[in-house]
Amino acid sequence: MELDDIDRVTVLGAGSMGHGITEVVALAGYQVTMRDIEQEYVDDGYDSIKWSLEKLAEKGIVDQTPEEVLNRIETAVDLGEAVSDADLVIEAAPEQMSLKKDIFGELDDLAPEGAILATNTSSLSITEIASATDRPESVVGTHFFNPPVKMDLVEVIYGAETADETAETAYAFVEAIGKTPIYVRKDVNGFVVNSVLGPFGDEAAWMVSGEEASVRQADATMVHERGYPMGPFELSDLTGIDIGYSVRKEAGKPIPPVVQEKVDAEELGQKTGKGYYDYESGDGADYQPEDADGEFDWLRIEARMINEAAKLIGDDVATAEAIDIGMRLGAGFPEGPCRRADKLGLDTVLEKLRERHEATGEDRYDPAAYLEDLVEAGKTGEDASEGFYNYGGEGGERHYTTINADLNEDGLLEVELDRPERLNALNGDLMDEVVHLLETTPTEDVRCVTFEGTGDRAFSAGADITGFSGMEPHEAGVTEFFEVVAEYPRPTLAKIQGFCLGGGHELALACDLRIATEDSEFGFPEINLGLIPGGGGTQRAMRMLTDARAKELVFRGNRIDAETAEEWGLINRAVPESEFDDTVEEFLDDLVHGAPIALGKAKQVMNAGRDQDLSAGLELESQAFGLLLTTEDMKEGTSAFMEKRDAEFEGR
Ligand code: NAD
Repeated sequence: MELDDIDRVTVLGAGSMGHGITEVVALAGYQVTMRDIEQEYVDDGYDSIKWSLEKLAEKGIVDQTPEEVLNRIETAVDLGEAVSDADLVIEAAPEQMSLKKDIFGELDDLAPEGAILATNTSSLSITEIASATDRPESVVGTHFFNPPVKMDLVEVIYGAETADETAETAYAFVEAIGKTPIYVRKDVNGFVVNSVLGPFGDEAAWMVSGEEASVRQADATMVHERGYPMGPFELSDLTGIDIGYSVRKEAGKPIPPVVQEKVDAEELGQKTGKGYYDYESGDGADYQPEDADGEFDWLRIEARMINEAAKLIGDDVATAEAIDIGMRLGAGFPEGPCRRADKLGLDTVLEKLRERHEATGEDRYDPAAYLEDLVEAGKTGEDASEGFYNYGGEGGERHYTTINADLNEDGLLEVELDRPERLNALNGDLMDEVVHLLETTPTEDVRCVTFEGTGDRAFSAGADITGFSGMEPHEAGVTEFFEVVAEYPRPTLAKIQGFCLGGGHELALACDLRIATEDSEFGFPEINLGLIPGGGGTQRAMRMLTDARAKELVFRGNRIDAETAEEWGLINRAVPESEFDDTVEEFLDDLVHGAPIALGKAKQVMNAGRDQDLSAGLELESQAFGLLLTTEDMKEGTSAFMEKRDAEFEGR
């Protein structure tokens, strides 16, 4: 079964995950049947989909009407009817092995030969579920995250007998429905995301159990110093303390005393009104930034997560890249653990694990062989040019984790800002990688550069402010990034679809040209944070717009739509989504095939002249003009004009 063969999808279960997966699949244009065991459950699931589609349409997030999408959804109670012509079945029934095996046993009898049988289990063995069928090669895990409509990640998990073709088609299907898949190549407990996330709560619980830290101190440090979206105890209260408890029990792992106490007291988190925090009479997770007092040993937590990642890589379960994407998209981590480890230094990480192991003798600090090997080979991270990733060390090409870059034969260098989980917000790594890319790609190979965001919601919604507060002014060294983009010797174009705010807006303004879809929004929200644009935004806006308009944007921190932005002269074109690619193409055709030296000179004198008086500007222009008269390109341009053919400029 290949992706093209998939027309009909059946989802089993209309609960939290089942109805969400059904909605996502239908939104992508597939025919879906959603099946549950009682009509009532099916109806509830269907109503939830309808409600969600109405919200999406209201907010303008999708441009299909709820009816169009609902028309692709059928419902069923009878299993045979639901799966008889399914090409792909995704099971999202309750998390019980016996139930899943019954379902897969029945599927084996009822689903067409060759159909892919996927399970959305979050913790059960794919291999064991598959053993209930006579076609384990067609069974695969597709682990969606909750809620499926919002969460981008899907883990595609191999059971022991899953055929490559099955996993590859499942992977391609996940991409086809607009989600990001990662391969989990072996059926390990917790797959990738939950395996790496385990120590986040576990180590914190041991530290509090040993009276080495307080709950608020741990949560505040991990959030305010280390940039995680939630503290470990806050997260545990949200997911249920009993859940983490039974995961440890099942895996035969020791239970930290604070966890045991909470379970004994039936204080299981938000759902019981009380957990590590009080949600009934108290204010819930009420830790404050000042609870991060600099005394909490966060490296213990991060070292254990990194160690877990190293085990997965060493055991060929997942690549460093898959793990990092998984943790960013599935757990909202500010950066992946492998990337973070490369910054911390793998030797530092290993040392922490060894130190703890020596002090306690506990298995959980046992360093992964893969980590030890890297350190032994001197691959200790970014400073050594190689760690989990290569940073351009010996013969290696630098691996980027926050951007995708492609340079084609025509000299078009396309840069994608790839942090969709943070609406492509700029962070230190991203800025650093763009600068590295622009500075190391031979300029003579490049005719034009485009910037765009991944995902369909944002060009870039700002700068990631995690870690900004308390920064010394000189450390906020973002200026270099915007300067390198602004002064790049070739034309640059920002392709804007969706939010273009704050730092993202400043990046767009540092480009020469801007084309946006009509639904894009522009603004400088910095003032609302007690800041001002810090990447040239105040100055570039003043030079591009009238005083009044520039100041309106900066002072009010409000947003303007693409049409207004075009009217104000902030962007070149605002076009409907359907015309976007063609419009960009028309611009690029001129930029990529235009005379390179002339374009470079035009950019240079226009930018430099803008900031000088007219006579100095004219002087710059005439010098450049004189120089261009001596180029091969100029000769080619004039002869092509005479001969009525397209010029072929070579940049000489
Ligand atoms: P849920 O209880 O909300 O929904 C399960 C639904 O399956 C119920 O409506 C139930 O009536 C129905 N069902 C029972 N037997 C069935 C059968 N034989 N055929 C079809 N439907 C049947 O559960 P959920 O949270 O949606 O979880 C479903 C699966 O997804 C589980 O395996 C779970 O581990 C996994 N999962 C859950 C989450 C989450 O956060 N909720 C996240 C990822 C994965």
